Amino acid sequence: MSKPCIFCEIVAGRMDADVIHRDDQVVAFHDIHPQAPTHVLIIPRRHIESMVDIQPDDAFLIGHMHLTAKKLAHELGIADTGYRSIFNCGRDAGQTVWHIHLHLMGGRSMGWPPW
Ligand code: IMP
Repeated sequence: MSKPCIFCEIVAGRMDADVIHRDDQVVAFHDIHPQAPTHVLIIPRRHIESMVDIQPDDAFLIGHMHLTAKKLAHELGIADTGYRSIFNCGRDAGQTVWHIHLHLMGGRSMGWPPW
């Protein structure tokens, strides 16, 4: 039997996470290995493996994920100084968890490009 998706387990409440937002579409929680003073992941309740799998019907969901990032950036105090919101898509981008997640990072200045 294949291992359950850890982010589906968090959505279902079977695995602990530091959850800061839930609604009917998404769940948001602090990253377990933060790469910035603020590092939150926003995930859909529905399992989608990667951004390469999204469909036109997912447009509202993806927009809602970004609007949730904006709302949380204000609540977490990083909206004024700036933040980065990114999806890693696939192996070469460094995706390690195969359930899409929007990284919301802030609280320090960041470089570009992100090697
Ligand atoms: P990716 O490399 O874009 O796939 O990002 C996966 C992220 O999930 C990484 O930043 C991990 O630190 C984070 N992560 C993995 N497992 C957990 C967990 O159980 N709780 C919170 N964050 C996690």
